[in-house]
Amino acid sequence: MRVLVIEDGADLAEAIRTYLSRDGHAVDLAADCAEAGLLLDLAQYDGIVLDLGLPDGSGLDLLRVRRRDGLRTPVVILSARDRIGDRIAGLDCGADDYVVKPVDLGELAARLRANARRGEGAPGVELAFGPLRIDRARARVWRDGAEIRLTAREWAVLDALLAARGRVLSRQVLEDRLYDFDAGISGNAVEVYVSRLRGKLGRGLIETRRGIGYQIP
Ligand code: CA
Repeated sequence: MRVLVIEDGADLAEAIRTYLSRDGHAVDLAADCAEAGLLLDLAQYDGIVLDLGLPDGSGLDLLRVRRRDGLRTPVVILSARDRIGDRIAGLDCGADDYVVKPVDLGELAARLRANARRGEGAPGVELAFGPLRIDRARARVWRDGAEIRLTAREWAVLDALLAARGRVLSRQVLEDRLYDFDAGISGNAVEVYVSRLRGKLGRGLIETRRGIGYQIP
């Protein structure tokens, strides 16, 4: 997933980025509404973490305006405000979820995944492909009953293809899902990860559409 974290607390923002990156997600940080607006205009995100008290405005106003303009990305509000009225206001402005600080990063990551899946309209979290069983909620894969260990980046490629099942994803789209703006991209990284996945999962799952990209049918 590609995630935008809008949070002016630098330490918390970095902690969230570190945690989500380790899970294989690409994470961009915005410290205020203006920066968030620029990034939202530039990139397509799969999930947004939104603080409410920002230096140049209210996260709620940002959310309200962006929803009105057609933003459909799942948004998880992350706020120190813990009254019921605050939660209701957040959800009424178009948030999908509301988490109160101090936050458990594992829980925040799980809520982002759950909301992203809901956005895709995915029927279930556990999928079966021949000898493979894949649990998207827990990011685990088994082949003939034996668990297969994937690296965070390998999982990120697999998860993006699963999310888009039946559609071809171009190498560029997959790269965008894998790397945040700060990370260097090597030209054939996506091919490398696909090839490693085929080595671990078998060649049948991920199909190459020559000149276009990759697909899980
Ligand atoms: Ca704040």
